[in-house]
Amino acid sequence: MTTTKRAIIVGAGIAGLAAALRLHQAGWQPMVIERAPARRDGGYAVTFSGLGYDAAERMGILPDLAKRHITPEEMNYIKPNGERRFSVPGPTVRAMLGDRALNVLRGDIEDVLYEQVRERIELRFGTILETVAQNADGVSAALSDGSVERADLLIGADGLHSTTRTLVFGPEEEFRVDLDHMVAVFMLDHLPADVAPGATETLTVTGRTLAIISLGDGRAAAFFGYRTERPSAELAEGAKSVLPKVYGDIGWAAPDVLAQLRTAESVYFDSISQVVLPSWSRGRVALLGDAAWCVTLFAGYGSSLAVAGADLLGAALESHPDDIGVALAEWEKDLRPEAEKKQRLGRKVKGLYAPADPFRLWLRDVPLRLAALPPVGRLLQRRLQLRQAA
Ligand SMILES: Cc1cc2nc3c(=O)[nH]c(=O)nc-3n(C[C@H](O)[C@H](O)[C@H](O)COP(=O)(O)OP(=O)(O)OC[C@H]3O[C@@H](n4cnc5c(N)ncnc54)[C@H](O)[C@@H]3O)c2cc1C
Repeated sequence: MTTTKRAIIVGAGIAGLAAALRLHQAGWQPMVIERAPARRDGGYAVTFSGLGYDAAERMGILPDLAKRHITPEEMNYIKPNGERRFSVPGPTVRAMLGDRALNVLRGDIEDVLYEQVRERIELRFGTILETVAQNADGVSAALSDGSVERADLLIGADGLHSTTRTLVFGPEEEFRVDLDHMVAVFMLDHLPADVAPGATETLTVTGRTLAIISLGDGRAAAFFGYRTERPSAELAEGAKSVLPKVYGDIGWAAPDVLAQLRTAESVYFDSISQVVLPSWSRGRVALLGDAAWCVTLFAGYGSSLAVAGADLLGAALESHPDDIGVALAEWEKDLRPEAEKKQRLGRKVKGLYAPADPFRLWLRDVPLRLAALPPVGRLLQRRLQLRQAA
């Protein structure tokens, strides 16, 4: 007689929900615990491509993700006085993205996954992992609601500052590599008057980027990314205190955005850091997503890798139903080269992201400036049409 295998998944972000869906598809019984009291939404637009796109197709969620795809009507690069430096039209942006890639809000990816699992699995919000103990037969998790859950596998999908990792692998400082930048994102109440409806607009000035995404349905999000030498101190100080100091003089739509920040209910604010671990599992505990290999937004691939990682984990557990250790080793062997490649990319992009001097900024923008030229835009669009027709 075979008994259904159980998994405890810590974190209902993209990695955790994707793992819940994929393990359910593999015949497992997953339960998810999430620290937040309810589903989080909003966020920034992310590129969803590569292994993640292929995995989403296999998992059957691609059509729902494609419905949430956003193409900006134009991408405008702005000067501090609000004038445009240059502009890339929407069809060229689509062509640059390629045919097997989507541009989706992070919260919308979570939403698509949540809709898939909400009726099928147990999901406990407002619940935190407190301790973990394991032996050859299983793993036990003591939770903040007072319960102790037992399972065959515990998956720590609890993000960059993973509690699972701290409890089982060691302190965060041993594995976190700060890339000397901070990021903040929040949903705006209204689109600032300086921003064209439907557009994504970006201002980069001396190591600081402010971008505003108009989502076309009344929603808009602001994104901040800037260099700093003191990420931990700024994290402790908080976005509402730090951002006005860093962005107060940047010009353009910043005064309006900073005024909206004062009353924003939820602001995502964190250091841009990678996670580098010699192994992603220990016994019956595996880390997944940013908890295991955070590649950072510089690599533009964290969501894709989270979904791909969940899909490959499910496949490895299907291939080795009676040996979790072998399944986890095979999973890591298959996925690690891609994660390390994207981490290398993330470290390279760090220097280009928000350059401090104008020449480096000009150099960084050369490919975009080329794409903004009508003949190059037409060429990119034609290439995409040919690929789609093939
Ligand atoms: C600004 C920005 C831009 C990005 N752009 C891209 C992009 O273009 N393309 C791309 O693919 N990726 C992008 N990413 C990365 C991407 O969003 C993440 O890599 C991806 O969402 C995977 O996250 P995760 O599920 O591993 O972790 P998270 O999203 O951090 O989720 C972890 C979850 O665990 C919960 N949790 C934490 N601790 C506990 C606990 N102790 N107990 C219970 N629950 C807990 C948290 O509340 C959270 O819900 C970007 C990231 C940022 C910040």
